[in-house]
Formats: sequence, structure tokens, C-alpha cells
Amino acid sequence: MKRLNRSAAFCLSFIFIFMLVSEKSAHADWFDPLTIHFLDVGQADCILVEAPNGQTMLIDGGDEHDGEEIITYLKREGITHLDIVVASHPHHDHIGSLDDVIRAFPVSVLYMPNLPYDTKYYHDLFRVINEKQIPVDRAKAGVNFKMGFSVKVEMLAPKASYYKHINDYSAVIKIKHGKKNFLLMADAGAEEEKEIINRGGVRADVIKIGHHGANTGTTMEFLRKVKAKTAVISVGKNNPYQFPSKEVLYRLNNRKMTIYRTDQMGAIIATSNGKKILFRTNVLH
Ligand SMILES: [Zn+2]
Repeated sequence: MKRLNRSAAFCLSFIFIFMLVSEKSAHADWFDPLTIHFLDVGQADCILVEAPNGQTMLIDGGDEHDGEEIITYLKREGITHLDIVVASHPHHDHIGSLDDVIRAFPVSVLYMPNLPYDTKYYHDLFRVINEKQIPVDRAKAGVNFKMGFSVKVEMLAPKASYYKHINDYSAVIKIKHGKKNFLLMADAGAEEEKEIINRGGVRADVIKIGHHGANTGTTMEFLRKVKAKTAVISVGKNNPYQFPSKEVLYRLNNRKMTIYRTDQMGAIIATSNGKKILFRTNVLH
């Protein structure tokens, strides 16, 4: 009987502790999911991150003429505000419609690498940044911030002040949620990959492959360090560059990675609970 009482007391205290934790989770976000949407914007990039605490981050804004589709997608997701926007680098397939998108939503801060670029797209983007007086911070290695209690965001690159290829100025972002890590490479190539390897901390579960699967990067050496089991490739159907390259696909298959491609599957949506990541695709989108 005494033993029974003791185990009943143990159970009760366990329930009590559980209630305390549950109570806390109403305010914190330990158990809520992180969702990352790789939008289908053809031969371009656009990634939406929804943190468990409701904060949002948009990385890139598709090419020219993608604005309406991106805005519709975000509104359908219930997005009313973008806490962080990242322009990974100033190529048109990353910032082409970012001006339209940031005009449509309030934006708290915008990160971009230090690379002034004399194109219509760049000037259009800055026109809206200036109109709306959006604070601009530099995207570079070492920048890190949290989205709520459970999501850590760290920029692994760029670190150098000069690169031969514009793509290597890409803001490379690692998102950590519990035990799970996402590595978002933008258009980074081999030179930037080397720099990231030297920096360390590159291991991830999911990698958004650099430069739409071009053979300018995603080296075997880099994949070996990242150790990701899943690859996402943001790429256009029948694109003139024939991305993703045969060489990159060979390397991903060689490592027995699961590959999700926006040209074949439409939008790709990853949901993490900190222990597991589930993928769904939106072929009809
Ligand atoms: Zn690109």
C-alpha cells in the first residue's frame, strides 16, 4: 500500500511538472513546428521560413514577374509581416521581384551582402527600401539571431571582401531547430564552400543546393562535410542552362540523398519538430 502511495505521488508530481511545462509552452515555442517553404518560382529562388513563435523570414524574392505569385502564396499562408528579409546576392533571379514583395508587406530588417550592383533590379529594390525606410544590415559570416526560443539562425558566409564570382557573395544561412539543421546555400560556388568548410559547423540534415544545381559548386568534399541526407533544388523546368547539372545529380545520388526539385514537384514544404523533418510537395501549385 505504501509503495502504491509512493508511485501515485510520483505520478502526480510527474503530471504536475508536465502541466508546468505545458503552461510554459503556451508562451514559449519549444514544441511548435518550424516550416520552411521552397517556393516554385521557376529558374530562381524564394524561401519562406515560418518560426514556431510566428516570426517570418523571406530569403530571396524570385525573378522579375514572380511578385504576384509570391505575394499570393505568402498571403495564403497568412503572412502579414516579414520580420527578416534576406537578399542573398543581387542577381535578378534572387531579387527580381523582391521590390514588389517588400512593398506588399511591412519589413523589420533586410540583410544583403556588401555588393553594390548597377542593375535595374538592384535600383528598384533600393527605391522601395528607401521609400519604406527599411533598415538594411550586412549579410556576412558571423551574423546570428534567434527566431523565438527554439530557432537559431546563423550566416556562415560570405566572409571575404572580394570574390571572383558574384555568386560567391551569397548569404549562406544555417537554421537550427532542436536537433535539426537546414543549410541554405543561395548560389554559393566552390570558393565559398571552401571558406565555409574552413569555418566549420557546416553539418546539416537538409541542404538547399547552391546555384540551382549548377556544377559551379556542391563539390563532393563539401557534401561529405555537410552530411545532409536530403537535398532541395530550386530550379526551372526546361531551363536553358540545363540545371541541375548531371555532375551534381551524380554526386547527390552517389551519397544516396533524397532529392526534392521544384521543377518536378512544385513548392516543397519542410516541417520540423526539432527531431524529425517531414516534407510535402505542392505539385499543383
Ligand atoms: Zn540564382
